[in-house]
Amino acid sequence: QRAALNKLKNSPTMTRDGTPITLHVNIEFPEDVTAVKRVGGEGIGLYRTEFLFMNRQQPPDEEEHFEAYSRVVRALKGGSVTIRTLDLGADKPIDSRFYDGSVGANPALGLRAIRLCLKNQKLFKPQLRAILRASALGQVRMMIPMVCSFQELVQVHNLMEEIRDELRNKSIKFNSQMPFGVMVEVPAMAICSDLIASYVDFLSIGTNDLIQYTLAIDRGNDAVNYLYDPLHPAVLRLIKMSIDAAVKVDKPISMCGEMASDSRYVRLLLGLGLRYFSVNPEAFLEVKQIINNSDMKGLSQRTNEILQTSSPTEITERLEAINA
Ligand code: PEP
Ligand code: MG
Repeated sequence: QRAALNKLKNSPTMTRDGTPITLHVNIEFPEDVTAVKRVGGEGIGLYRTEFLFMNRQQPPDEEEHFEAYSRVVRALKGGSVTIRTLDLGADKPIDSRFYDGSVGANPALGLRAIRLCLKNQKLFKPQLRAILRASALGQVRMMIPMVCSFQELVQVHNLMEEIRDELRNKSIKFNSQMPFGVMVEVPAMAICSDLIASYVDFLSIGTNDLIQYTLAIDRGNDAVNYLYDPLHPAVLRLIKMSIDAAVKVDKPISMCGEMASDSRYVRLLLGLGLRYFSVNPEAFLEVKQIINNSDMKGLSQRTNEILQTSSPTEITERLEAINA
């Protein structure tokens, strides 16, 4: 089994009937590039950056951000690196001395991720500067987590303009065309994906949060995790809506949430139109094997039938038939 998987390392990712699929890797630490290389990964679809805030007395400065990003970009040797801006708060708590504002009684619905960053530009700007500087070294894309309104995108856009001016004035190099994308992880974004898609360069579906917010269940609460269901028709419909909206305006859309790393859902996602998966290093070769052993023919019709099914048992049966 392992030998068969290892053989896949240097082969392209493509369905049996010839649809090319992009398969990238999620990382949380710069050291994770070793694991990416080990499985033959050529791109990073999600580089979480919260590690920079772990176990420390002071927030990281621009140089530390830059050091971490440039290490990964160099290691990827021209492969695409999608750096996600800070997703601090809620399930990724931050030392309260580092920021202004209060977490509130319901942190998942409070000041987190882009909300926390826009309110705390002293934390955010060094990261934006570092990402822009890293963009001069390779194929860097920047992605914003937890976006729920168009206004947030405008604010980030304005901040970026400001920083680009600063860098130009100092003759510091950056890629002025660096792709700018959003995560689709709040249902509002999925529902409005057709309105947003034309304003960004790419989208990426974060199912971990999308499921939490769609089904109103705390992703970290054991008492309700029996309800945490990627196959809930509401979740599947939001995923489909987002993919369709992106495809319609020719914007790349990926999935970097855990659902993409789960072997049971790979064919279903292909059927929903997903062509770009970003997965954990541990799941990479298995997902690749499933993709390479799948035929697109008939898949979209069979997944559309699942979207019209209400009974969980029947959904599971239909999925098993697709995976057989
Ligand atoms: C997600 O929400 O699916 C995601 C990829 O982000 P995180 O798990 O870091 O919140
Ligand atoms: Mg998330």
